Amino acid sequence: MGVSNSQTIDSSKINPLIKRTHEYLSSEDHNLIKKAFWLSDKAHHGQFRKTGEPFIEHPLEVAMILAELHLDVSSIVTALLHDVVEDTSITLHEIKKDFGKSVAFLVDGVTKLSQIKFKSNYERESENIRKMFVSMGKDVRVILVKLADRLHNMRTLAPLSEERQLRISQETLNIYAPLAGRLGLHSIKMELEDLAFKYIYPEVYSSIFQQFEEETKERNKYIKDVIAFLTEELAKKTKVKFEIKGRTKNMYSIYKKMQNQKISYAEVYDIIAFRICTQKMHECYELLGWVHSLWKPIPGRFKDFIAIPKANNYQSLHTTVIGPQGKKLEIQIRTYDMHYIAERGVAAHWQYKDEAFLKNVKVQTQTLKKFSWLQDLVALHRQAQHSNVFLESVKKDLFESDIYVFTPKGDVKEFSSGATPIDFAYAVHTDIGNKLKEAKVNGRIVPLKYKLQNGDVIEVNTSEKSHPVREWLNICMTSKARSRIRSYIKDEERKMAVQVGQKLLDKELKKVDFSLDRFLKQSECKKTMVSMGLNTHEDIYAQIGYGKVITQNFIQKVLGKDLVAPKVPEAPKKSKKKHDSPIEVEGMGSVMVQLAKCCAPLPGEDILGYISVERGIVVHQRECKKLQNLTPERYVDVSWRIKDEFKQVVHVKIMVYDETGTLNNISNIFTERSINILELASAAREDDLKADVFVSFEVRDIEELRSIIRCLEQIKNVVSVSRSSSASIKY
Ligand code: MN
Repeated sequence: MGVSNSQTIDSSKINPLIKRTHEYLSSEDHNLIKKAFWLSDKAHHGQFRKTGEPFIEHPLEVAMILAELHLDVSSIVTALLHDVVEDTSITLHEIKKDFGKSVAFLVDGVTKLSQIKFKSNYERESENIRKMFVSMGKDVRVILVKLADRLHNMRTLAPLSEERQLRISQETLNIYAPLAGRLGLHSIKMELEDLAFKYIYPEVYSSIFQQFEEETKERNKYIKDVIAFLTEELAKKTKVKFEIKGRTKNMYSIYKKMQNQKISYAEVYDIIAFRICTQKMHECYELLGWVHSLWKPIPGRFKDFIAIPKANNYQSLHTTVIGPQGKKLEIQIRTYDMHYIAERGVAAHWQYKDEAFLKNVKVQTQTLKKFSWLQDLVALHRQAQHSNVFLESVKKDLFESDIYVFTPKGDVKEFSSGATPIDFAYAVHTDIGNKLKEAKVNGRIVPLKYKLQNGDVIEVNTSEKSHPVREWLNICMTSKARSRIRSYIKDEERKMAVQVGQKLLDKELKKVDFSLDRFLKQSECKKTMVSMGLNTHEDIYAQIGYGKVITQNFIQKVLGKDLVAPKVPEAPKKSKKKHDSPIEVEGMGSVMVQLAKCCAPLPGEDILGYISVERGIVVHQRECKKLQNLTPERYVDVSWRIKDEFKQVVHVKIMVYDETGTLNNISNIFTERSINILELASAAREDDLKADVFVSFEVRDIEELRSIIRCLEQIKNVVSVSRSSSASIKY
């Protein structure tokens, strides 16, 4: 690349960057950086930014940001070249030739992120994240360069139109700042937040900023006093060497505190945070002890991120105490090593020279493992069909995360608050989630809706018979669990629909003396299906099963015959055959059958089946009001075939005069027959001296229920007994 003879190059521009990388990169690296600068400067020659500066200032600044994080030479070179492929005539091929595969790969990644075209604002965001995460799955450095690029663009946002300022700031606040946070790049996160905040809410920003400025003097004095006092007091008590620093929080986090707690600026107490750094881990705990002996800690505010590091590897002790003048003080205590990671986040893991890093595959896998949530997001993106769904789930994962639980082996898993054993099971493995049977927390079985608490030890058991159910969707929190459950249910529903549809079609065809096989071979059948956009026999079964196609109509279309209009089937004769299910469906063999909850039919009662879309065949009492409102086309004949162990839950309502002993007499009826009462509740009526008693219990059949009702009616003070559809009183 003949760039050395160019006269446009002002080599002094590279000096600040070289100065900054000098402390951690080799002279060989510096030659590569200089080479990249020459190429970039030449390629961008004649281009200017909206700020009026020559374009090269931008890649240089991006490289500077990364140099501050001590990133490796490939990242710095990529930063310098990140816009050349898109904005100049230089090709990726040339970059590969001059700088090697690894740089070319990174430049390509960054370029691709910038090239994506979007339809709407919302989609723009989610597409953006999607692509970003995909590239992250391959190499985190792509995202680090992109974050630095965004940071510099935010710093120089002023000359842009108001509309673009607002759009870019929204995107920064929604996506880039949280992402920087998750990657542990706290100073970048805070700066992005403050810059975006300034453009989105200029008035609020300047009002907070003004008050903040006014107090600077007072605040600095306070910081100085606290540090002096603390240094002196701690030195009296311990030989441990330490260093204390005070810093103020960023504008945006102050604003968010005001918003969340609905308080004014004056009421935000923790604008200042103090940090104590020391050499060894045990010294952190010792210093914490002394701090707590000096000032009273506020309960619930102590967090031990040393024992349980955050997902981004952040480690520190956090506490809030009542300090001098009764002011609350936030104090963080950590080692210098922990501080190094805290400042640089994921970037701390990329401070190796390329070759050394790639040779040490073990280090690489460990780094990737620590950021395994990225991999989850990549997988998620492949599943999520709509951008909006993806955006929502990603935002959930990015923003809410503060529960840490242990596996029995002591591994730590991180969840958003509100997560349940279902989320845990899916976090371990999809198969574990799909077969989840029960969960134990701290050795005890808990319901699946149990909300995980910090420090819980959780263990899950699976069973081949267990499977996800729709209710789980209301219980789980993570996007992973949600999407896996959805896809399981969808598959199951389709299977069910195919099964039901096929049997239904077969059954209706028998009425017109046609076999299913013969019917499907009719050329008219294929034609009709094509006209409906259906390809396979399964497709038409599913359509019938889902209730989207009425069986009789479809047969009519194919055969061109007028069929007998469907009518409510006659009451069937009792079947004496013994099978697995308590109910037999006429002419349909074994399909999934459920008893309706609304009328809870009992053996011996007249019943009728209904082909539902999601739950297979649901059996109601023939008289059930709910059934009357459903389409008769989907009625199906069913009959009882009772097994000995069959039991059905029923509810009765007993109206009584509210006198002592009555309840006792009622429960005796059940005890005499060894029937377990599942639920018993009573409520006084407002109008008179009567009360309603609700009892839930299990019976074998309608005869048993009738006999119990007769006995209940005999009891003194019982006015009436009736079967009820719901379990208890609605207050
Ligand atoms: Mn750029």
